[in-house]
Formats: sequence, structure tokens, C-alpha cells
Amino acid sequence: RAKADGRGTKRFFEVEMDVSLRARRALEIDLREALEREEFELHYQPIYDFRGRRIGGFEALVRWRHPVRGLVPPAEFIAVAEEIGLIVPLGAWCLTTACTEAMRWPDGIKVAVNVSAVQFRDEIIVESVRAALAKSRLPPGRLELEITESVLLKDNLATLATLYALRRLGVRIAMDDFGTGYSSLSYLRSFPFDKIKIDQSFVRDITSKTDSGLIVRAVIGLGLSLGMRTTGEGIETQEQFDRLRCEGCDEGQGYFFAKPGPARDVPRMIERWSSAGTGNSRAVA
Ligand code: C2E
Ligand code: MG
Ligand code: MG
Ligand code: MG
Repeated sequence: RAKADGRGTKRFFEVEMDVSLRARRALEIDLREALEREEFELHYQPIYDFRGRRIGGFEALVRWRHPVRGLVPPAEFIAVAEEIGLIVPLGAWCLTTACTEAMRWPDGIKVAVNVSAVQFRDEIIVESVRAALAKSRLPPGRLELEITESVLLKDNLATLATLYALRRLGVRIAMDDFGTGYSSLSYLRSFPFDKIKIDQSFVRDITSKTDSGLIVRAVIGLGLSLGMRTTGEGIETQEQFDRLRCEGCDEGQGYFFAKPGPARDVPRMIERWSSAGTGNSRAVA
């Protein structure tokens, strides 16, 4: 009896496996064709400069405009794109598109592009960035690359060489999702990042949990002493906004300012958060 149940369970499990493997294979094929069919698009989320009281730049966030599934978020395809190597051409497309679209924005408004650890292999990323800058003619100082700690996990010397090669191109480098990986502090010591983005998990609890508040304060202090700017991610409330500004954070990003939107929304987002005349930027909105 128990044996039969076991076999039944196993057979059921195998069927399940088969279904998910098929789905996975289908997704891979779909994803590969998506790039050729130009189904990807970038949405932009404003990054607010606390001191300048204005939008200083935008983060480019990729979406897949699927003909059947609608707008697919990166969480549902970036990992697969990395595994099948598609992230390299997709990442290059993101860089070129972001730089080209940023050329239409007012002078000085920066664009931040997320870069996957996989793009860091074989220094391909340096060529992709160089090509995107050349094609778009965007001044390198207006491009910022966001990398996560996973980039620094393997082959540290090669990675550092790549980071310095990127720095020599004139682009800025930000450490994304800071505080979520392993031994974050040693990473900050090994490379002079321009910016630390404080992960949204700390910002979410900044007013409700003492330890999150203390961590945010410590990271801002770290940024100050290391000469790196700090950005609070995932700001959703006025309280979080006020707290981060008071703690001396340089920039903020989150639904409180705006959700990521298509390129055509960029001028409206800049306008809405320009300080023009009043102390409270929300009052002009
Ligand atoms: P990330 O780089 O940390 O981007 C921030 C994510 O937080 C975005 O999710 C954004 O929509 C979301 N977010 C912003 N403000 C708030 C808020 O106030 N509350 C909440 N709950 N969430 C907020 P999204 O667009 O789904 O992207 C998720 C992740 O996918 C990104 O995290 C990044 O790691 C990755 N990603 C996005 N675009 C690209 C890309 O072009 N290339 C690569 N390699 N990865 C990308
Ligand atoms: Mg990011
Ligand atoms: Mg982040
Ligand atoms: Mg994140």
C-alpha cells in the first residue's frame, strides 16, 4: 500500500516536472525571439535629489511587452535570460536604448542602468557600454551603472579590472540593493563606488523598526566617510521621505515620487517634482 502510494507520488511528481520543464523550454524560445521582435521596453523611475529638491535622474527598468501575457516584470525573465546567455544582447539593448532616450532629456539629467553579473564576464560589458555611448552620443558622466554584490562574488581581480575600465570610460558605478548580500562592507572597501543604494527592505521599516533605522543611519554615515552618495530605495510614504532626508541621505527613489513609467512620462515626472518657487515640491504637483 505504502509502496503504491510512493510510486503514485513519484509518477505525479514526474508529470509535474515534465510540465514545468516544457513551460521553461517554451519560455526560453519565446524570450530569444522577443529580442528580435523588439518586445522589450524600458520604463523609467525618477531619482529625487534631496538637497537640490528636484529629479536628478532616472533608473531604467526593463519590461517585456508580451503579446499574450501583457507587461511582464523583470523578476519573471531576467534569471532565465542570464541562464541562456540572452542577458548579454538584452543588456546591450538596454544600455543603448537608455542612453538614446536620455539624450532627449534636459541637460544634466542622469540615467541609471542595471547590469547583471553575467554581463561582467569577458569584459563584454566594457564594449557594450562603449558602443552605447558612441551610438547615442550621451556624455559618459550622465550614465550610471547599477551593479549588485553578486558581481563581486567571483574572480575579484578580473571584476575589479573591469570596474576600473568602466570608470575610465567616464561612467559612474553604483552599488545596488546594498545590505542584502554577503560581507557588503568588504566590497565597499575593494572598489570606490560613486553611490550606495540602500535596499528597500531597510527603508520599508525605517520608521517602524529600530534596527532598520540604525542600519540606514550607519550606511549613510559610511557613504559620507567614504565619499559615496547614498540613495534610499523604495520610499513609499512621507514619513520615510522625511526620515531619510533628515538622516542626510542624498537621494530618494520610490512609489512616493512615482512608479516606473514609459519614456513619454519622463517630462511630466520632472515637472511634477521640480521645486519651482515653493519649499514643498508636492504643493506644486
Ligand atoms: P532594482 O534595480 O533594485 O530596481 C528597483 C525595483 O524596485 C524595481 O522593480 C522598482 O519598480 C521597484 N520599486 C521602486 N520603488 C518601489 C517602491 O516604492 N515600493 C516597491 N515595493 N517597489 C519599488 P522592477 O522594475 O520589477 O525590477 C526588479 C529588479 O529587476 C531590479 O531591482 C533589477 O535588479 C532587475 N532589473 C530591472 N531592469 C533590469 C535590466 O535592465 N537589467 C538587469 N540586469 N536587471 C534589471
Ligand atoms: Mg537598480
Ligand atoms: Mg535596487
Ligand atoms: Mg532590487
